[in-house]
Amino acid sequence: MLTVTQALDQIVREVVAFKPEMVALDEALGLTTAQDVISQEDSPPFDKSLMDGYAVKASDISSNRVELVVVDEITAGRTPSCDIVSGQATRIMTGAPIPGGADAVVPVEQTELINGNSDRVRILVESISPERNVIRQGTNKHIGEEIVPTGRRLRAQELAALAELGDARIAVRRQPIVAVLATGDELVTTDQTPGPGQIRNSNETMLCAQVRNASGVPVPLGIARDNRADLRRLIKEGLNSDILLLSGGVSAGKLDLVPSELEHAGVEQIFHKVRVKPGKPVWFGRLRRGSNSCLVFGLPGNPVSSMVCFELFVRTAIRRLIGQFPATPQSLTARLTHSHSHQDDRETYFPASVDWTADGPMVRLMKWHGSSDLQSTVDADAMVVFPPEPKEYAVNDRVEVILWDR
Ligand code: AMP
Ligand code: MG
Repeated sequence: MLTVTQALDQIVREVVAFKPEMVALDEALGLTTAQDVISQEDSPPFDKSLMDGYAVKASDISSNRVELVVVDEITAGRTPSCDIVSGQATRIMTGAPIPGGADAVVPVEQTELINGNSDRVRILVESISPERNVIRQGTNKHIGEEIVPTGRRLRAQELAALAELGDARIAVRRQPIVAVLATGDELVTTDQTPGPGQIRNSNETMLCAQVRNASGVPVPLGIARDNRADLRRLIKEGLNSDILLLSGGVSAGKLDLVPSELEHAGVEQIFHKVRVKPGKPVWFGRLRRGSNSCLVFGLPGNPVSSMVCFELFVRTAIRRLIGQFPATPQSLTARLTHSHSHQDDRETYFPASVDWTADGPMVRLMKWHGSSDLQSTVDADAMVVFPPEPKEYAVNDRVEVILWDR
């Protein structure tokens, strides 16, 4: 049976990124860049004032109450009509270009007009250092510098930086379409009251939400009953997507028909079963369709198993498709708030909550009753990774932690 690391390696090896596409910036929120975007312009594009006030020569301000002749006025969007020489100033507004000859701006609050005459100004500070209240062309970004790297999920701030520097269209990778198919004779929809022996299909809600969080577009396909006709029809439909997620029906039960039905549909198995708790029965394969393919994950039916397998395996596949790097789950080290006895020879992903203290991250294990215990995940924001050997952990022992939704 594969270890988690081996299973992740196989996913990384098998899944290649979507082809880049050009989109307009206002369609790019949440998408991932497919190339390094290099600035073709300086930011700011000209030397400009950071204050409303007077552009001066700093060397002129050598004593309190220096008087200067105001030779020009520049509002934002205008350009200077003349340079200044010693003894002169230009009235200037925030964002307006600095005139030639000036090297500092005295804020209007530190000045007064002489006899109310707008042609003469008195400076009420004893000195000002050169460059004060001025931002020079290219200070924030020079031509040729990178604005956004490849593989970055675009948020408002990246989009704004791109908008500022004139890239109206940008190369991105599209979001994967992810079909979600729950299987099980025992399932009813979440708006129904379960009869004897029945439970609600919570996995559809959960997996669709996880898909969205991972930048995918979920397509819920409802419930396939544990019979070949139903599975066959819905699997066929799901294979039109970039990824098909099935929940349930992948372990060794009498009605666990998913692996054989996937095989029947022509899906090539890449692995089945991983030495992980929860989630051991997880299945991964691919249907090749010309130049592209559909990735298929058979997730165990138990909700926490499905959730964990999604975070470990499905997310890695999605990150590969959209070109996010690193693709595999990233961990950090935290210290346990309580002792814990780990008695399993499978790598175990334990629901936990991280507290960011002044002494570094501390992690608290949830009360966890196993793979059906969704409630244990409600207050959790992470999973502690226990290595695959029995061990007594003491308070403050360092453990590896993977944050959820990263
Ligand atoms: P299975 O993997 O099909 O054997 O299912 C394992 C367990 O997960 C059983 O207790 C199922 O009732 C439960 N289960 C399966 N599918 C779902 C689902 N869609 N939502 C909630 N629980 C499920
Ligand atoms: Mg089942």
